[in-house]
Amino acid sequence: MDVQDDVQDLDQDATETARGPVDVLVVGAGFAGLYALHRLRGSGLTVRVLDAPEAPGGTWAANRYPGARCDVQSFDYSFSFDEALQQEWSWSERYAAQGEILDYLRHVVDRFDLARDIESSTRVLSAVFDQLADEWVLTTDRGETHRSRFVVMATGCLSVPRPPDIPGLESFRGRWVHTADWPREGLDLTGLRVGLVGTGSSGVQFATATAGVAGELVVFQRSPNYVLPAQNRPMDPEFERELKARYAEHRALAKQTTRGYPVPAYAGQKPALATPADERQEVFEAIWEHGGPVLTSVFTDLTVDEAANETAAEFVRQKIRDIVTDPVTAELLCPYDHPLGTRRPVLDTGYYPIFNRDDVTLVDVRTAPITEITPAGVRTTDAEYELDVIVFATGYDAMTGALLAMDIRGVDGVSLREEWADGPAAYLGVAMAGFPNLFTVTGPGSPSVLTNMVASIEQHVEWISDLVEHAHATGARRVEAEPADQARWVQHVLDRAEATLLPKANSWWIGANVPGKPRVFMPYVGGYAPYGQVLAEVSRDGYTGFSLTR
Ligand code: NAP
Repeated sequence: MDVQDDVQDLDQDATETARGPVDVLVVGAGFAGLYALHRLRGSGLTVRVLDAPEAPGGTWAANRYPGARCDVQSFDYSFSFDEALQQEWSWSERYAAQGEILDYLRHVVDRFDLARDIESSTRVLSAVFDQLADEWVLTTDRGETHRSRFVVMATGCLSVPRPPDIPGLESFRGRWVHTADWPREGLDLTGLRVGLVGTGSSGVQFATATAGVAGELVVFQRSPNYVLPAQNRPMDPEFERELKARYAEHRALAKQTTRGYPVPAYAGQKPALATPADERQEVFEAIWEHGGPVLTSVFTDLTVDEAANETAAEFVRQKIRDIVTDPVTAELLCPYDHPLGTRRPVLDTGYYPIFNRDDVTLVDVRTAPITEITPAGVRTTDAEYELDVIVFATGYDAMTGALLAMDIRGVDGVSLREEWADGPAAYLGVAMAGFPNLFTVTGPGSPSVLTNMVASIEQHVEWISDLVEHAHATGARRVEAEPADQARWVQHVLDRAEATLLPKANSWWIGANVPGKPRVFMPYVGGYAPYGQVLAEVSRDGYTGFSLTR
């Protein structure tokens, strides 16, 4: 179909509900969408946010499962753009729980008067570029069309849950839920027989919080992960006062790091294999006590050399054997199939000890796979487990899922789904050739999920806003990534990943968790600060790799 017919049809279908144009449409109202609205509106642009859920908050509004908690420390996993905001907000724990982060985002909405430009319960179905007007036309499930010169996709890296793909689900007599679509009204699991499918970050947090509440908890584990201690604890008021006194300095330091937050000073100084075993052990122990997902940063070779990695991996396995008293269960919990850090390390406080409880059972569904859901519960090739509730913590169609859920069509009606059939291709992870004036916050090809997401979101929102302001100020009607620069960046992203152990595992980073998804390593491993340097050079040099046309 000709794209202009397409656009006209959209307008005609919805003549009565066509909405007046704005400068920028932002899709999504999580951390990224909220900051994009604030930042772009502050530049004098008209902005409207379209957001599918009934209220802002993104992933932190959706993931209400017991135990949901951030795995980056609260004072890093928060906005840095406003000194007064970071001074006035107090986090009650080292790692904030879901409810507190959602409260924080609500506070941000109120504080910066964001609600008036957010349309909730509005799912964007398509985005079509009208190349005569150089405008985007977005249609929504409310039967409305919205027009704008620019579009910012703030749709999240982990916002499309993977539904359970196990036969027989409809026959289950009890209740089933997905962790990422937890009932808003809550779900009381007290005394119930609860089955958990999935042992990634969500499943591990859920299991830890639910053991001892449920009458019985059955954990169906297909792949063990390395679960590192968060060492969560209440926020120490003295520490908070001290940090707030130097918050700006702390944020400036974070900007120099590869993760978007500082790691302990002794980390990353030398290779593990060049360090005597007892000294190595001391460092691993120290980082274990310190807590957090930084074990792979303590030596320089852990993410690039399998033998070096094995020293850290075996350290974690020994911890598991020390904690879990039944040796068979302990061994089942030990990961051997991937190097440490080649899947997102899982963080929690107290996961392994739950397997010492009589009311918690670990079921290995790698050797005896789940065959079906029955009216009574879960059947594996070995046994049937009777359950009242099944919780699926089965993950997401990550990084590309939310973008490809919409029908996005660029110049000459080219479809993003077709363009990305063999994997995502984006310039700097922020813009796509053939899709002018459309930007992705923390898109594939940017550091995003390998970093502190809030830091990466701020980095992207600020850079995209500057580019939009620049285009607006200079009268550029089209800002578009150059295909050759995009191709070079995509290759660079792949090369950097290949130089590490990261593509070796079957992770969602490489799309391995979704059947049929192209196996392409999606985030950029170059690190937050070096990537920031690239962005800074591109803008300083007049936005190299972009064509700006009037
Ligand atoms: P995930 O890491 O993709 O884990 C999904 C789990 O479900 C895996 O254990 C997977 O097993 C299992 N699974 C899927 N289908 C299955 C089946 N048919 N039978 C048995 N097991 C099955 O998803 P997630 O735990 O939701 O985490 C995704 C990401 O979200 C995390 O890596 C993290 O970045 C983010 N997250 C962060 C936090 C936090 O900040 N603390 C909390 C939650 C999530 P296999 O491994 O064998 O495929």
